[in-house]
Amino acid sequence: MAPEDAKGVTTGAVRSVAVVGGGVSGLAAAYKLKSNGLRVTVFEAEGRAGGKIRSGSQEGLIWDEGANTMTESEEEVKQLLNDTGLREKQQYPILQNKRYIVRDGVPELFMILLEPLLWRNSRGRGKSLRVSTENSEERFGSVIIGAIRSKLSGKRKGNKVNELPGKTRSRRGSFSFRGGMQTLIDTLCGEIGSENLKLNTEVLSLACNIDGNTSFPDWRISIASDRDNQRDHLKDWSFDAIIMTAPLCNVQEMKFTRRGMPFMLDFLPKVTYMPLSVLITSFRKDDVKKPLEGFGVLVPSKEQESGLKTLGTLFSSMMFPDRAPSDQYLYTTFIGGSRNRDLAGASPEELKKIVLSDLHKLLGIDGQPKFIKHVYWRNAFPLYGLDYSSVIEAIDKMEQRNHRDGLSVGKVIASGYKAADRVISYLNASVKQETT
Ligand SMILES: Cc1cc2nc3c(=O)[nH]c(=O)nc-3n(C[C@H](O)[C@H](O)[C@H](O)COP(=O)(O)OP(=O)(O)OC[C@H]3O[C@@H](n4cnc5c(N)ncnc54)[C@H](O)[C@@H]3O)c2cc1C
Repeated sequence: MAPEDAKGVTTGAVRSVAVVGGGVSGLAAAYKLKSNGLRVTVFEAEGRAGGKIRSGSQEGLIWDEGANTMTESEEEVKQLLNDTGLREKQQYPILQNKRYIVRDGVPELFMILLEPLLWRNSRGRGKSLRVSTENSEERFGSVIIGAIRSKLSGKRKGNKVNELPGKTRSRRGSFSFRGGMQTLIDTLCGEIGSENLKLNTEVLSLACNIDGNTSFPDWRISIASDRDNQRDHLKDWSFDAIIMTAPLCNVQEMKFTRRGMPFMLDFLPKVTYMPLSVLITSFRKDDVKKPLEGFGVLVPSKEQESGLKTLGTLFSSMMFPDRAPSDQYLYTTFIGGSRNRDLAGASPEELKKIVLSDLHKLLGIDGQPKFIKHVYWRNAFPLYGLDYSSVIEAIDKMEQRNHRDGLSVGKVIASGYKAADRVISYLNASVKQETT
């Protein structure tokens, strides 16, 4: 239903909102705005929407190159799953509670006792892994920790792949979708409509102006459109509001003006990003001598002394058996992070050697992979570190709060929904102001 709208009442015009960035937070915001009757345009610099969520498929394999799973602790996520029909496509990993951590070069089974952050090894030695929530890498976790931790965020009974029937039932624990996380993106894009999604369209600048007749500002953005490799810098669009979901490093490259004067973003702290390489591999089952059942193995940094160089590996086809042909195992291995920044940018050949060596040590894998794919994320995660509070202050100053509550898929969807709610309230308030 369209919100009460003064312009709409007097002129029949519908309020229009621009969303900058077509990652999952931007798409969630756009979906919410459109569901509330607003006209929405999403600007995405790349040729595809989804940002750090991207799935691929080939020869019976389905893999994720960015986020592998998500949780639905946030009400906004539950709502989105129910409203878009995604509930029907949810896929829960089998053996959600079975995870491994390497100790002295050997994967050990860990069990959840109480909470995600308190694990105990299978021999009951009572080791607790308490993780601070201050640092952003820790907030989400280095990817493998994050993936593992997100699975720990809910306990559940049973260990079968489950797709929930019914619209509103939800349960705890991490999940993906049939077809991978891309299904979430494709569904949101379908709801938003391709005509409202401007791909290959990089936002270069934003301007906020107030004309003489109204106290209600007009927001303009200029874009570089890269259609057919012909860059077009001339486009200029006008909106009633803008939601910014591009990462901070990209925002810092944009130009901002207010009432014709430059608006400097020098109060924004410089944020360092953690690079990460992801290697997706599949092997013939016969070549895996010690296949571990469960969802993955975490390699603590101390284990570099045992010659292990990866951060950890998700057992992708153990979690989701339909992601690989029945004679193969599919794995997703992470390399780099703050622990080993330089390694993240190593050549694909070198990374392959490292992954094969670690998988040989941990799972007894011999032989060459049947499939291998390397994905490099130069800016995988922001490392706010001790500066996190200054980032929050700066973001508050800009009245834009994406990522302030966390970096997981669920949190950024909630952020997108909240931003959309604020825009709806803002537009409604301005309507009332104009009509009085
Ligand atoms: C390897 C990896 C594994 C992960 N695993 C998990 C996981 O298992 N579970 C989990 O919950 N989270 C995981 N995450 C984190 C999660 O994927 C991200 O936090 C989330 O997807 C971020 O979404 P976003 O929309 O906020 O940002 P992004 O996905 O970064 O989207 C921002 C978009 O803005 C666009 N953009 C930038 N500048 C401009 C511009 N000037 N004009 C127009 N568009 C612009 C970009 O192209 C991009 O598409 C993982 C992340 C990575 C990298």
